[in-house]
Amino acid sequence: MNEIFQQALPVLKEIESHGFEAYFVGGCVRDYYLNRDINDIDIAVSATPEEIKKIFKQTIDVGIDHGTVLVIHETGHFEVTTFRTDGEYSDSRRPDQVSFVRSLKEDLKRRDFTMNAMALSSSFELTDLFNGRRDIKNREIRTVGSPLERFNEDALRMLRAIRFVSQLDFNIEKDTYHAISASSSALSNVAVERKAAEVEKLLIGQAMDRSLAYAVDTGLSNFMPPLINAEITRQLKGKKWIALNFHERMVLILIIGHFSSLRECLSKWRFSNKRIKLLMLIHELVMIRQQREFLKTDIYYIGKENVEAAEKVYAVLSNQPVNTDHISACYSSMKIKNKSDLAFKGTHLIKWTGLKGGPWVKACTNQIETLILSEELENEVSEIKKWVQTKWLQK
Ligand code: ATP
Ligand code: MG
Repeated sequence: MNEIFQQALPVLKEIESHGFEAYFVGGCVRDYYLNRDINDIDIAVSATPEEIKKIFKQTIDVGIDHGTVLVIHETGHFEVTTFRTDGEYSDSRRPDQVSFVRSLKEDLKRRDFTMNAMALSSSFELTDLFNGRRDIKNREIRTVGSPLERFNEDALRMLRAIRFVSQLDFNIEKDTYHAISASSSALSNVAVERKAAEVEKLLIGQAMDRSLAYAVDTGLSNFMPPLINAEITRQLKGKKWIALNFHERMVLILIIGHFSSLRECLSKWRFSNKRIKLLMLIHELVMIRQQREFLKTDIYYIGKENVEAAEKVYAVLSNQPVNTDHISACYSSMKIKNKSDLAFKGTHLIKWTGLKGGPWVKACTNQIETLILSEELENEVSEIKKWVQTKWLQK
């Protein structure tokens, strides 16, 4: 048994010893049968949150209205959720109302796809009421029950389907696919934050190109903030984007999608300001890279990681191999990596020159940095002082 399941097993057994049922459910069971790394374990139980809180000494109410309690156990922290059926999902992250039930079957029935609706018991017995294993073997995404009904209940499931295409490199079963095409406009009722969370997972998947094509072909892309369009899916064909991370892929898409106002587009996705700033910086750097190669001063002032990200995006755009070894080599050879490596401070400059502080301090520092990076000056106090008192003062 997988190590992460082993760690959670005592929690399942403890719950069972109090006369309740407990199972591993959802993504962890799917990923186990797919031999993928398991990120987090979800445990579903017949006990109510109150009953769970009586069993364990330490628990945290992380989503008690929706039946989820975090159990803090000596082997780890585990989310334990009461079997439930869901009411409407209006536009929040979670359904408006849930009803706790005592039957595993009811809980599995409310789940989105067959591959996500399996349960494993503490003795590792599989409950697979909707042929999830068959669909995993055939690499097919199929709703539990009527796709039209299930997408009508929660339109986000359509976006989840294409997110799983990207993440797992699966196909969408025919009826499920047609139902997405028929119901795509319902996605406009879903909160942007829920969509953004799925799109983020979509954009780091191994089959991002196919998934984006599905988003366009089913019409789903029309009901999200602007980002995905037919031009992008056309241009991505033949490009080697797989080595790019989320931010780099976003910038690639923004560039090939020719978005006129980046900030406007990114704020519509309600990304954090920090993330928007980073994406705009990498975008700007790619624009620079299209004019010239990166210099040591770029790495010094803007940071190795950002320059590398832009170099990767540039390589993909210009159909070159994605390789940043030359940036790493350049970085290693730099005598100073950032300001804190400088052998002097602004106060030294004032003392050495006898001048009053002012904008010249920054200008002088910048010039010294450039000279050190180009190895025309050593990063040593005596050398720098000599240069300041002769070259700078005589200017
Ligand atoms: P990942 O590995 O990316 O986290 P996951 O399958 O665990 O994938 P989650 O969003 O963490 O996805 O959801 C956990 C489980 O909850 C799913 O496997 C599914 O059974 C159920 N689920 C999540 N969202 C929905 C939804 N909108 N409708 C129905 N069931 C859902
Ligand atoms: Mg999960």
